[in-house]
This record gives sequence, structure tokens and C-alpha cells, in this order.
Amino acid sequence: MRAGLAADLVVVGLGPAGASAALAAASGGLRVIGLDRRREAGLPVQCAEFVPGPLLGQASGLPEAIRQPISAMHTYLAGEAPCLTADFRGQMIDRAAFDQALVSAAVDAGAQVRFGASVKAITPEGVVLQNGEILDAPVLIGADGPRSLLGLAIGAGAQALVETRQITVPLHEPHAATDIFLSPDYRGGYAWLFPKGAVAHIGLGVEPALRHQLKGLLEALHAALVATGRVGREIMNLTGGAIPVGGLRRCTGMAQGRSILLAGDAAGLTNPVTGAGIASAVQSGRMAGEATVRLAQGHTQAVSDYALDLDDIFGVSLARAVARRTHLMAKPTADVRAQPQHLRQGWIAYPEYWAPLTIDGTRQNFSHNERALP
Ligand SMILES: Cc1cc2nc3c(=O)[nH]c(=O)nc-3n(C[C@H](O)[C@H](O)[C@H](O)COP(=O)(O)OP(=O)(O)OC[C@H]3O[C@@H](n4cnc5c(N)ncnc54)[C@H](O)[C@@H]3O)c2cc1C
Repeated sequence: MRAGLAADLVVVGLGPAGASAALAAASGGLRVIGLDRRREAGLPVQCAEFVPGPLLGQASGLPEAIRQPISAMHTYLAGEAPCLTADFRGQMIDRAAFDQALVSAAVDAGAQVRFGASVKAITPEGVVLQNGEILDAPVLIGADGPRSLLGLAIGAGAQALVETRQITVPLHEPHAATDIFLSPDYRGGYAWLFPKGAVAHIGLGVEPALRHQLKGLLEALHAALVATGRVGREIMNLTGGAIPVGGLRRCTGMAQGRSILLAGDAAGLTNPVTGAGIASAVQSGRMAGEATVRLAQGHTQAVSDYALDLDDIFGVSLARAVARRTHLMAKPTADVRAQPQHLRQGWIAYPEYWAPLTIDGTRQNFSHNERALP
């Protein structure tokens, strides 16, 4: 093994969470090394690229990455009239440009970043890369996505996941809504059409056991949309990936004598119902970077404060999403498919989703703060 650089902070993963963490920590004066196994920032894109409006003020790089506004959500449930949610605002972005802009901002702030750098293990010597090099720092931020190695290192366990498949196709008419398709066939997930100028992303997610059905289900949805004349047959891009659906989990801990903070998907911050995780990745990454700065300044509570703050900000909305999804998943059995009322309870467009429910013995009422989150 080759001994390598020492720094104040090593960030593993340079997606929205890791780049935001590196930016915040470097801006606070820390020596930061950011690592990512991808060959370049943001590529390949594994995302439907919808960001809710409130992120606009928070993230550097977002204005240049915006491709079209979204103003509504249309939810389709077989046998029912579409449910139209007005004033559901957000932006369709170029995710590669967004991730690249965040990394550039981190570099401009003084962070060192390395792509093609895959982390293999955390050992007493430090962060070990696939090439044998070792990097060391007293604090590590795990922004390494749904199957986080740093999460495993602090004993957070594997996360529950949804598997997805998405194609990009020509869109024949401009559209300013995110279209959602609910069906008992999409067990554990849903299907979507998100417009992005002259193209649309059509995709769907299901529980991992049904992964083998993704291709056929997506082909059927694509064919149905072609038949309506809304989209073309041509498939311009194919992607997919895992989305965490277990909700907030243990997000701080020690491993091999180093403090570890998890952010973004690694911390389970993606909404288990909608799959939205860009905004929470940016926000949590920035908070983790700021916590590391405070820790370096001698604020020994900074790490535990980070965990408490994440829970304050995201805890209620994630707990509701986990509860709704768990309830929906419990409904269908081998002979009984989810009924429309179950699907309505499990999707954010319907009042049933926001109705009071009891989580851990506490009655949760809808709050505006909760609903403003993705
Ligand atoms: C098909 C799909 C569609 C989606 N659509 C949306 C959407 O429309 N809107 C939305 O808000 N969210 C969406 N999401 C979720 C969103 O993409 C994630 O929540 C978001 O990317 C989380 O950011 P992150 O920085 O935490 O993780 P990531 O973006 O996953 O970044 C993690 C990084 O860590 C790197 N990494 C992992 N392990 C290692 C290692 N051992 N060594 C070095 N590097 C490592 C990876 O290469 C990666 O670059 C979608 C997800 C999928 C799969």
C-alpha cells in the first residue's frame, strides 16, 4: 500500500451531497479531498432531473442547469379521472451540468477533487483506494450514495431500495407538468413522464424482487404513450439505478478512529415515496461540511448537532413517507392487488396521503413545513 495525502476532511462521493459538503468545508478553511469512482462529474446521469422550486436559492450551479419550469403534477390511476395538482412547482435540470457546477464551485473554494478514485475500505491507516493509495483525515463524509460503504463502516446496515429503469424519448407537444402513473403492477414504486423541452424521461421503479419486470413494464408504458401520440418511438437514452426507501437512518458514527458523517442518499434522505433526493442531498451535504468546520474549531457537539438537525428538518416527512409506503406494501398479497384507495393513500397528490397518521405512537398532522419538502 502507498501512503498518501493527509487532509482535514475526506469526502467520499462527489454527487450533489459530496460536492456540497466539499464546497462548504473548503469555504470554511479546511483542507478537503473529494473522491469519486466515476471518471467525470455527473456522468452517466442516473436521474429524472426534476428539482422542486425551493432548491433554487440554495445551490450554486442551478440557474445554469435549468432546462424548463414545471408548474403542476398530473397523477393517473387506472379507472379514475386524472388528479391534477396545480401549483406544484419546480425545475427540470441538466443533472450532469448541475453536478459539474457544484464540483467546480468546490474546487474554486479550494477543495482537491479526484475522479476515477474508488474507495475500497476504511482501515486504521485511512481511506484505502482501489489502487492501494491511502488518504487520511480525522473526519470522513460519506456521500457515496444508496449502497454507502461509509454507512456500512459505522454499522448503519444496508438500506431498503427501489430499482428503476428510465428511457428518454422525443416529446411531441410541450408539457409543463410531471406525470405520475400509479398501478398495482408497480409494486413499491410508480411510473413517471417528466418533460424536458423537446424530450421526456419515462421511467418506473419497483421493489428489487420485481426488477426482472422493469423492462417489460417500461416497454408497455412507452408503447401506450406512443399510441396517444405524445411521445416518439425512438429511445435516445437508457438509464436506471437504486433509490433508498428506508428513510433517515443512523447518519453519524466512528470507524477506525475517524468521525464519519453521512449525507444525501447515503443517509437515507431520499423521499421513499417520490424518490426525490437532489434537494436533500445538497442541503445535507452543505450541513455536513459546515459541521466539520465547527468540529475543527473545537465545537465537540458539531457531529451530534448535525444528526439532530437532519432529524428536525427531514424526520417527519420521511417518517410519513415510510409509513405510507409500508402500509401500501402490506396491502397486496398473492391474490389481492393494491386497490385504488390504497394507492391514493400512498401518493402525495391525494389528501389521503396527508391525513393524520400515527407514527411511533405520536399522531402526525400535516404541516406546511413537511409539505414543502420534496
Ligand atoms: C432513475 C432515478 C431517477 C431519479 N430522479 C430524481 C428526480 O427527478 N429528482 C430528485 O430529486 N431525485 C431523483 N433521484 C434521486 C437522486 O438522483 C439522488 O437522491 C441524488 O443523486 C442523491 O445525491 P447523492 O450525492 O447523495 O448521491 P449520488 O448522486 O448517488 O452520488 C454518490 C456518488 O458517490 C460515488 N461513490 C459511491 N461509492 C463510491 C466509492 N466506494 N468510492 C468512490 N466514489 C463512490 C458515486 O460514483 C456517485 O458519484 C433519482 C434517482 C434515480 C436512480
